[in-house]
Amino acid sequence: MLRTKEQYRKDLFKMRPNIYIGGEKVGRDDPRLLPGIRVLEVTFDLAQDPKWKGLATAMSPLIGKEVNRWAHLPQTPYDLLQKQKLIRLAARRVGGCIQRCMGQDAIIALAVCTKEIDEAKGTDYHKRFLEYMKMYQEKDLDGCCAQTDCKGDRLKRPSEQKNPDSYVHIVKEDKDGIVVRGFKMSITQVAYADEILVVPTRALKEEDRDYAVAFAIPADTEGVKIVTRPVWLREKDDEDAPPFCKYGVSDSVVIFDNVYVPKERVFMCGEWEFGRRLALLFANSHRHSYSGCKPAVSDILCGACLLAAKANNIDKVSHVREKFSEFASSAELAYAAGVAAAVYGEKTSSGVFFPNPIYANVGRRLTGELIYHEYNLLTEIAGGISVTLPFKEDFKKGENKELLKEFIVRNPEIDPETSLKIWKFVENVGASPMTLWYMIAGVHGGGSPIMETITLNAEYDYEDKIKLARYLAGIDEHLDDSKWLSLEPFFKE
Ligand SMILES: Cc1cc2nc3c(=O)[nH]c(=O)nc-3n(C[C@H](O)[C@H](O)[C@H](O)COP(=O)(O)OP(=O)(O)OC[C@H]3O[C@@H](n4cnc5c(N)ncnc54)[C@H](O)[C@@H]3O)c2cc1C
Repeated sequence: MLRTKEQYRKDLFKMRPNIYIGGEKVGRDDPRLLPGIRVLEVTFDLAQDPKWKGLATAMSPLIGKEVNRWAHLPQTPYDLLQKQKLIRLAARRVGGCIQRCMGQDAIIALAVCTKEIDEAKGTDYHKRFLEYMKMYQEKDLDGCCAQTDCKGDRLKRPSEQKNPDSYVHIVKEDKDGIVVRGFKMSITQVAYADEILVVPTRALKEEDRDYAVAFAIPADTEGVKIVTRPVWLREKDDEDAPPFCKYGVSDSVVIFDNVYVPKERVFMCGEWEFGRRLALLFANSHRHSYSGCKPAVSDILCGACLLAAKANNIDKVSHVREKFSEFASSAELAYAAGVAAAVYGEKTSSGVFFPNPIYANVGRRLTGELIYHEYNLLTEIAGGISVTLPFKEDFKKGENKELLKEFIVRNPEIDPETSLKIWKFVENVGASPMTLWYMIAGVHGGGSPIMETITLNAEYDYEDKIKLARYLAGIDEHLDDSKWLSLEPFFKE
């Protein structure tokens, strides 16, 4: 079934209230959650639109039906390319993060890892997971990914923490299921998700066995408490706010207070050797998702710069034009890294097609490092107005109204109303609470920068580069290029 946004909202509002904002328990219909709900609704709208059939939807081999692409397990490089393209399309519409990719990256990671655990241990997690996926796709559910534990002392392992709840862990286990407790944090969209997909956040040792746990539960399961922090887009309550101001986000601390998870929803239970693998599978898939959304953020920033430059009448000046080209580089290099990750991906034993981790990580690293610089380009081009512009009401009423109409025009070819719209847009993009959210998400979302370094140092073929240098330096007589040349696109014709 492809759910409509109305069905999604109806299902959401029926859930047991377990959301907390500012010390109060609230329903999912709390107006502070609406900006985020509206973002999710776009993911349902796109799948309903015949124009986006095959992009926002995909054929599921699991249930033999058309499903929302965010509930689909990619089978081919084309699927990954479509996933990336869809994320960019959707992110451009909501002014940034589309929020549904985290859940998709979690189901991808679980599909791959459950199969690998079964192959090594003779367990039956994969079959269980596929049964769960059938239900997930049939109902067109939206899952969030709860990976990040609150972690306590960063230099101590999960089992060494003073507070054992610093990482989500198993406290009881029987033949029918498990009981878990602990804290996950910074979990995007859990306050308006149907399901919570829990995966480990780091490599584990044998003594961390109880922390090797993965499962899926409805977000309103007994014992789950969601303390959320909504971030509003800019001027959401203003009736003439730009359309993208109605969107927003919410991130949460998820408290698992002795939560029972039935066996059929448990996908890892003590297999500590696979903690690292599952954590990385999610992170690498998510870093590929970034090659869709981050170019969209660059597109928006680039557009804001072009408008601001026009309004300042500096759009033809050479140093400004040079800055525009920086957006072209960052957006399209990140996108190209995503394309390369798809084309050079691999078919896993689960049948899921997984992006190449090197390309996914270099793309994510580039964009993460550039994000503050890109916001700075907007600040440079726009001037200080984004933080000093009077409130919109001053332009609408009061004795200074007419004088402010004169004040707001810089380029005489742009009328006062359009000029005001441009500068309000620049303020919303470059100097609002969401600005900081995008900057910090750009650095830490999908893992801190050090995680990209760790992945690259583990996966990149440095040996090949030593051999090359030895050959060019005349130390070795022959150059062995075979490993490097063995990198082939999945489709050879
Ligand atoms: C906007 C936003 C949205 C997010 N959404 C989600 C989500 O939907 N789901 C989800 O699971 N997570 C989400 N995250 C969490 C994100 O994955 C984490 O922020 C990221 O992995 C970093 O973890 P942390 O914030 O705990 O920082 P830390 O891990 O505490 O990192 C802080 C610093 O400490 C260093 N450090 C940490 N541990 C060690 C160590 N052992 N040795 C040496 N140095 C160390 C790091 O390198 C870094 O420099 C989100 C984050 C943000 C900002």
